[in-house]
Parts: sequence; C-alpha cells; structure tokens
Amino acid sequence: MEIKNKRQLAILGSTGSIGTQTLKVVEEHPECFEVYAITANSRVEELIAQARKFMPEAVVIADETKYKRLKEALDDLPIKVYGGYESICQIVESKPIDIVVTAMVGFSGLRPTINAIKTGKAIALANKETMVVAGELINALANEYRTPILPVDSEHSAIFQCLAGEMTNKVEKLILTASGGPFRTFTKDQLENVTKEQALKHPNWSMGAKITIDSATMMNKGFEVIEAKWLFGVNADKIEVVVHPQSVIHSMVQFEDGAIKAQLGTPDMRLPIMYALTYPHRLQSSFERINWDTLKELTFERPDLERFPNLQHAYTALSKGGNMPCVVNAANEVCVAAFLNDRIKFCEMPRLIDRAMQQTHFITKPSLEDYLETDRHVREMVESWI
Ligand code: NAD
Ligand code: MG
Repeated sequence: MEIKNKRQLAILGSTGSIGTQTLKVVEEHPECFEVYAITANSRVEELIAQARKFMPEAVVIADETKYKRLKEALDDLPIKVYGGYESICQIVESKPIDIVVTAMVGFSGLRPTINAIKTGKAIALANKETMVVAGELINALANEYRTPILPVDSEHSAIFQCLAGEMTNKVEKLILTASGGPFRTFTKDQLENVTKEQALKHPNWSMGAKITIDSATMMNKGFEVIEAKWLFGVNADKIEVVVHPQSVIHSMVQFEDGAIKAQLGTPDMRLPIMYALTYPHRLQSSFERINWDTLKELTFERPDLERFPNLQHAYTALSKGGNMPCVVNAANEVCVAAFLNDRIKFCEMPRLIDRAMQQTHFITKPSLEDYLETDRHVREMVESWI
C-alpha cells in the first residue's frame, strides 16, 4: 500500500524503546513519514544524535538542566530547541503535526495527550498509563474533538486488527494474551526473594525498565485490561487474560457466534507501531516472519491471581472506577521506582498498592484536577511508607 501524503509525527519519548523503534519505522518508510518533533526526559546525547539524523522542526528536553547542552549542540541547524515539561505539553499542538506518538512512561503522558487531542491530532497510544488513569476523560475528549486513538500496545493492536471489518458484529469477549513474565513458574516463596536483575530479564520482549517490571508483576496485564475497556468499549467481565508463554498470538477477539480471530507474529513492536501510523493501510516490512519449522507449540494457561495480585488489583480498580485506577497507577509508579532502586522487595509492590487503594479518598467522577491531585497525594503517601 502507498501512503499519499507524508504524515508528520511528534514522537514523545523518542529516546526510549518505543520511541527508537518508531524512528526505525520512519527510516524504513521515509516516503510515508516525516518527523516534526521529538522529545525526551533527560538522555540528551541520544536526543542530539536523533535530531541531527532526522532533522525535525522541534526538539524538547524535559530536564531543564540539559537544555543548554541540547541548544548548543544543535546551534548550527535550523531546529527549534525547547526545555521543560511544559514545552512538551505545548509542542504537540503545533499545526503541521498529524499524529502524536505517546511513547513516554507513566503519568507524564496524560497532559500532552490531552492537549494533542484538543488540537485534533491523531494519537498513536503507547503510553497506556494515560488510559489507565483517565480513560473515561480521554474518550470523552476524543469524541468531542473527533480524534482517533490508535493502539500501539501489541495486544490492543492485535484486537484492533481483528476488529477491522467487524464494526456491526457483536463482540462476546476480548482475550488478552500474556507472556507470564520471567516469574511465571515461580512459587509464592520464590517470589519473595527475586532480584531486580531477574525481573528485568523479560523472556520475549525487550522494553523500557518500568514496563519490564510491570510485566514481571503482571501489573502490565492489569493495565492492559483497563486500556482495553476504554479503547474498545468492552466491560471488564468480557475481558479475559490468558497466559501464552510463547508471545506469538498477540491477542484475540471472540464474536457472538463463537468465532475467534487472532493476530499472530514474531514479538516485534515495529509492526503495531507501523499499523497505528498507517491505519487502515498496511505497508511492506522487512520484519522477521514466523518460522513454522522452529515454532513447535503454542500453549495456554490461566493467570494466577494469588501469586500475581496486581492483576486482581487492576480488575478491582476497574470495577470501582472513578479515581481508583489512578490510585493504582500512582502507587505502582512509586513502587516500581523504589524496587528498581533496591528500596523495596518484589512482593511489597502489590502490598503497598493494595494499601494505597484502601486509604485514598474515592472520587466517583474525577475531573482532570482530581486526577492530578490524586496522583500527587498517592505518590506522597506511598513514598512515606517506603
Ligand atoms: P522507555 O523507558 O524505554 O522510554 C521512555 C521515554 O519517555 C524516554 O524517551 C524518556 O526520555 C521519556 N520520558 C520518561 N519520563 C518522562 C517524563 N517525565 N517527561 C518526559 N519524557 C519522559 O519506555 P518504553 O518501554 O518505550 O515505554 C514507553 C511507553 O510505551 C510506556 O507507557 C509503556 O507502557 C508503553 N509500551 C511499551 C512497550 C515496549 O515494548 N517498550 C510495549 C507496549 C507499551
Ligand atoms: Mg502489551
């Protein structure tokens, strides 16, 4: 398929795992995409190299202490350079941008995503935390401003691909597959003493540190259940998680006649990224194909909510609604950072999240300000327990 007009991209979090893979997609199809803006938190040298290579109109670094270095390094080029998180929130509004790829981590994705939606940009959504925290608000805005939200997460991309051409047909169930992470076969006792080095070794995917820990605790799958509810308008009782250790089936949709459609592929995020950028079209790719000679088996098992309570926490938060998913997200962000800094043990993460859920003031229909306040309050509270 050929794309007629080049799509102008803003890539938020361009130095990360999804960000760099998005740039690889751009490199593979320069006839389809142009990079208008790239942003990063603090990895300034990588950002400079990307800017020199892709020649965007604008570059933003959130960490203001790195601004001077960035500005000086790009001084010989006609690139606008900005510093500070507020500049990320603003750059997405630039007129020429068609699609904003939200590839930053955590709650920081929320405000730029809202601004992008309000200025009519399509969102290629990698930053699932935005949907976890404020899915209802994001959907309301996307409807109001008629902006599409295109999933990048591999499971949601799989579901999106399975739903193509099925708009009038009733969905009975969404089936999210989960690799089970590095501790799939560990006992409860073994989980008590796992290290961050073990947790950072995902069996199938190479990803940023935060989502890799979320995969090990299965918080990631819980977040994906919440994300699926808001992206596809399907209630939690119709979203099933199945552990599938080979990560070949990326997810499935079961229709009311019992038929199940699945999307399969090698674990390579460039495919879902590219699909989000070109939907409803597909482009030729050089990505590795499935080899049926070496692929011996596809296996399935039930997730164990007792060993991985975070998945249960996500279901509970989703059924409570309101600001509860925001509470879980904020508590989780603090816990993951603390675990990565060797301040808490692996099994303390779900315990602290549970405690935060019990102790936070519940708001039924939160506004953006309520989300910001809940996030701030929960971070402070959980931090004080650690
Ligand atoms: P990463 O840690 O590799 O990269 C994160 C990027 O965001 C970096 O460029 C960093 O500079 C930027 N960033 C981080 N915090 C920021 C802040 N406060 N302000 C501004 N910029 C900030 O992360 P990743 O693995 O690429 O994941 C990005 C998002 O995509 C996450 O929400 C994750 O859940 C989601 N996701 C990732 C994968 C994957 O394969 N990596 C798959 C599905 C979904
Ligand atoms: Mg995923």
